[in-house]
Amino acid sequence: MSTLITEECINCGACAPECPNDAIYEGGQKWELDGREHPPLCEDIYYIAPDKCTECVGFFDQEQCVVVCPVDCCIPDPGIPEQEPALIERARKLHPNEQFGAPFRSRFREG
Ligand code: SF4
Ligand code: SF4
Repeated sequence: MSTLITEECINCGACAPECPNDAIYEGGQKWELDGREHPPLCEDIYYIAPDKCTECVGFFDQEQCVVVCPVDCCIPDPGIPEQEPALIERARKLHPNEQFGAPFRSRFREG
């Protein structure tokens, strides 16, 4: 599932530069995919564009926004359940020139 930022967000901005997919936006900013801009999904706090979030699958063993958030307000979105195959497929689409290892890094394989 995509990761979600809750209203506990304090707008510190620590998460956005850590996202391997540039999926995190400041409130009020348009989000972009394939050169197209889309209206902000939130006006007041940072948000994650679900179409760009892979739960860090392909890049890290843990969601990086979860790791750096000082108030623990990055959580799995229960409304968007997704499994590893869909997430690595998204990563490959987002990064067509990237070679993902086999096995690739994934929070599903942590431990
Ligand atoms: S879980 Fe990973 S891919 Fe998703 S928004 Fe957070 S840092 Fe970005
Ligand atoms: S790190 Fe957490 S508190 Fe800071 S902007 Fe991101 S979601 Fe909000």
